[in-house]
Amino acid sequence: MEIFGTNVFNDAIMKECLPKNTYKALRKTIDEGSTLDPAVADVVANAMKDWAIEKGATHFTHWFQPLTGVTAEKHDAFISPTKDGKVIMEFSGKELIKGEPDASSFPNGGIRSTFEARGYTAWDCTSPAFVREDAGVVTLCIPTAFCSYTGEALDRKTPLLRSMEALSKQAIRLLRLFGNTESNRVISTVGPEQEYFLIDKSFYLQRTDLILTGRTLFGAPAPKGQELEDHYFGSISERIAAYMQDVNVELWKLGIPAKTQHKEVAPGQYEIAPIFATTNIATDHNQLIMETLQKVAVRHGLVCLLHEKPFAGVNGSGKHNNWSISTDNGINLLEPGKTPHQNAQFLTFLCAVIKAVDEYSELLRLSASNTGNDHRLGANEAPPAIISIFLGDQLSDIMKQLRNGGPKSSIQGGQLEIGVSTLPTLPKDSTDRNRTSPFAFTGNKFEFRMVPSSLSISGPNVVLNTIVAETVSLIADRLEKAQDFNAELKALLKEIATNHARILFDGNGYSEEWIEEAERRGLPHLRSTVEAIPTLLKEKTIKLYEKHGVLNETELHSRYEIDLEQYSKSINIEALTTLDMAQRQILPAAIKYATNLAKSINTVKAAYAEAEVSAQTDLLKEASSLISALKQNIDKLQTVTKQAQEVTDAYAQAVFYRDQVFTTMGEVRQAADQLEGIVDANLWPIPTYSEMLFKL
Ligand code: ADP
Ligand code: MG
Repeated sequence: MEIFGTNVFNDAIMKECLPKNTYKALRKTIDEGSTLDPAVADVVANAMKDWAIEKGATHFTHWFQPLTGVTAEKHDAFISPTKDGKVIMEFSGKELIKGEPDASSFPNGGIRSTFEARGYTAWDCTSPAFVREDAGVVTLCIPTAFCSYTGEALDRKTPLLRSMEALSKQAIRLLRLFGNTESNRVISTVGPEQEYFLIDKSFYLQRTDLILTGRTLFGAPAPKGQELEDHYFGSISERIAAYMQDVNVELWKLGIPAKTQHKEVAPGQYEIAPIFATTNIATDHNQLIMETLQKVAVRHGLVCLLHEKPFAGVNGSGKHNNWSISTDNGINLLEPGKTPHQNAQFLTFLCAVIKAVDEYSELLRLSASNTGNDHRLGANEAPPAIISIFLGDQLSDIMKQLRNGGPKSSIQGGQLEIGVSTLPTLPKDSTDRNRTSPFAFTGNKFEFRMVPSSLSISGPNVVLNTIVAETVSLIADRLEKAQDFNAELKALLKEIATNHARILFDGNGYSEEWIEEAERRGLPHLRSTVEAIPTLLKEKTIKLYEKHGVLNETELHSRYEIDLEQYSKSINIEALTTLDMAQRQILPAAIKYATNLAKSINTVKAAYAEAEVSAQTDLLKEASSLISALKQNIDKLQTVTKQAQEVTDAYAQAVFYRDQVFTTMGEVRQAADQLEGIVDANLWPIPTYSEMLFKL
């Protein structure tokens, strides 16, 4: 355990190597959000440099999260030339605080054109700096926010920090009304569970689709899938155990408390979860977890796939975003206690979340959208694309009591009798679990289960923080003005419990009946990413984000453009990869097979004219007709992809990619997968699902 946090410039190190006053000033900025004095930055920079150099670092980088979906960095050496032709190792406060990457080279949705390139990265001192080791090269990484010369956020960190501020400000208002004078800040906390697949690297390298798009664009189902349910929580093989241990060590060094790991439902699928942290740090950590999972895999001859749906026909991957809110002095505001019906403060925050999720469910849906997740949401493995909240028996009952005037009791869990006298009697939770709900209350937090596995968790948490800040602010507005606090609170909670009852659903979210029921209740059902994106430009959204200072209208417009562009671009890459593989690998293999059959018929007939060749003839007939179907679909895909590229309006283009290009890709795949079922295995040019999923 002595390795934990050794690569992090954490609080203990700062305390040790910073002068007392500097440490105090920095802590004040970190804990209370006060502005940082440049003189303090100089001292911190110097200490940070000495610490990093001792760890073997030669370079530093501002580490940021542009809207590409991955992290970015630009490395600079610490060296600075001296008059006598030598160098010294230097790192100034200015370099720590501010960097200047070229903003026009990152997605900016039209905010920056190439000739106005300037952008800035700014040190986020609330997330600790760390050193990273890549093949012996050690680099000091400084978490930063990234914005344009004109001040607009171009990254995922800035709005997250802003949303945390907004939530804190509003929640403190509400806490004061409940008589809390001790807490100074309210912090949202997140524990993300990360799913991923592992496959042998040798298979990966033979699959252009995995290399270029992260998912298989072809592949007939393996004879065995996940039907035996023997993978979930199964025992972990030595090779995977060694990999996981290596991942844990790397993460622990980075101060990431990776805790839980297990096999997931699909073959080749796994999960890792750290202990929860402040949203900002948890988001940085989740990016590092994804990078580490991928980096360490290569060392073990494996490749880690983070795509939401790498394989058709078996479950895909997501992230469970466990979210809660706590005060700076450690009170979890979503902790119901033993008798939640008496806990008015808890019920108020609970109602604020319920109202927020109901009123802004489209924004939440959008925050969990990307091309990969379109394969999952609404399929039989992930929640539907409709947002609803699971509360469980105890809280559902209390909500009912709230509607009927006032809560008087809480259902208790009692004891669980297993029926074997030697086993202990377990105290039973007051609430069962529901795995089919997109947004479930799990004891003292909500678990948002729609989040895509490859996406930064920043987006979903920006939405959660901001929408809850909004409903908390409305509640505080009313209560601050109330003559009789208790009467007003009672009326308010009754109103929320009544008006937002439609978002509560404890049943089976995977069932057809729920889709119909949800439509009857008037809950939005945005089936795909493309349908969700325009939510960004709704007046309601702009008003919300501007009111809380999270994103302004220009920034929202830029994100709208970027989301559409990224959708179209990724489908375009998939289409071109489909064409490449179909034309250069699958079609030639199928033709070769057909030729072999034809040759066989001729050779056999030549040797023995009366020979029975109906098997070869039937196969040849089938293969030829599939080859012709494949070719026709390839031609069609070529045509529609070209047409899609020519559509000028960004929204119309995304719709065209979804309806025409994506659909036609599926048709190409269908013919190819059918061919895979009959073509000689020795001729098949790419590794099959059986190989990739079961040979590990
Ligand atoms: P599951 O049973 O859903 O698989 P896990 O135990 O794997 O749950 O993960 C639960 C996650 O929730 C962990 O990351 C845990 O640290 C996190 N968590 C627990 N309490 C809180 C909290 N108050 N705020 C945010 N996350 C929390
Ligand atoms: Mg979970």
